[in-house]
Amino acid sequence: MAQAASLLSHSHNDDSSALSEEMIVLHLIATGIIRRETRIELGQEIDGNYELPLQLGLDRLNVLRYQQTLPLVKSVPDLLAHCQKPLREWLPGKLMIDLAEQLLAGAFSTQLCQDLACMTNDVEADLSESHFIERVFSTCQAASSPQAYADFRRFLIEKPVMTAFELLQCANTYPSLDILRDLLMEAYTNAPFDYMVDGKFHCCPTCGNLQQPNYERTRFACESERCRRQSVKAGQSRIVNAHDQIYWLRRGLRRFVVYPGRAELRLEKRLLDLGIKVEMWPEFDSYDLRIQLPGKTIAVDVKDWANPFLLANKVQEKGVPALPVWDEAYYVFPNERKHEQPDYVRAFTNTCNNLNGKVKIGKKVKAAFENDFVRMVQSALREGKIIANER
Ligand SMILES: [Zn+2]
Repeated sequence: MAQAASLLSHSHNDDSSALSEEMIVLHLIATGIIRRETRIELGQEIDGNYELPLQLGLDRLNVLRYQQTLPLVKSVPDLLAHCQKPLREWLPGKLMIDLAEQLLAGAFSTQLCQDLACMTNDVEADLSESHFIERVFSTCQAASSPQAYADFRRFLIEKPVMTAFELLQCANTYPSLDILRDLLMEAYTNAPFDYMVDGKFHCCPTCGNLQQPNYERTRFACESERCRRQSVKAGQSRIVNAHDQIYWLRRGLRRFVVYPGRAELRLEKRLLDLGIKVEMWPEFDSYDLRIQLPGKTIAVDVKDWANPFLLANKVQEKGVPALPVWDEAYYVFPNERKHEQPDYVRAFTNTCNNLNGKVKIGKKVKAAFENDFVRMVQSALREGKIIANER
């Protein structure tokens, strides 16, 4: 209830990010779906009680439908069946998001559903395991080791699935992780048995996470929409033996650390290959990358939200943190986003600049697709060389 109440007051008091009733309804439903998914995965008993946001979302959806003289959606299970269909088939009204999209695709929540659930900070905190990350943070801070924090993050991104032996061995890979040993164990849970086929687990060839088998147990799918879209030849995925006791990163950490983190590490590698000094997650994740170019320091936040309107609203809350200091800041969107939504940068920029918020795109703060950002870096390096030669 607190979430719904805070969201409402937010929408009424703050013109800059006022949300329409339709968006609030979607936010509630999406939040309920994600909470439910998390409960199911944790093996918590699912009874006839549906998550409160689902119930609230249903009630308010029906008010909208009643106003449009549409038949009411009878129950939460009915609502969840509707969520498998494009929004335009069940949600009346005008929205700033693509009405062809769905909240659920089979057993999985969609990227849109996840973004919608994260529109407010309290829900995100709840979902993003921020308490866990805070404990990692304070352990590293007590040890004055931002390096341990960065190593921990990198480790989770690179190793979402591990055998018990690998998990125990991890401190040898990164000695700085010694102080985080207990938290590292906590970050992982046993692989779910219903993902196992013939004593084996199949990992996603793209992101390395466990894949869910279909009902007939003949095909496997990753929880990430983007991975599912990639065509991969059979035989490319890692298969691990259940005998080896398989551990999988917890859902919240997968969603908020691994998936975005993959694009962050890829960008790091591309910049390192150009010979640039890169600091990852400086000052305990103030932002994602801090890089040195000739004559200027650049802060980068890699953002991978499906919806540019929702992201533009979200970034207004805190902007790019001022410390550690930077001269220019970039919001960088992964290349995959460009293929999916070529108009993304323009939509994000326009929305930011039309809101009365903290973030204006254009001068000190910019927005670019990954490849365009790397091109900007390359040309800054070339110019730097020319100036150095002229001296
Ligand atoms: Zn995947």
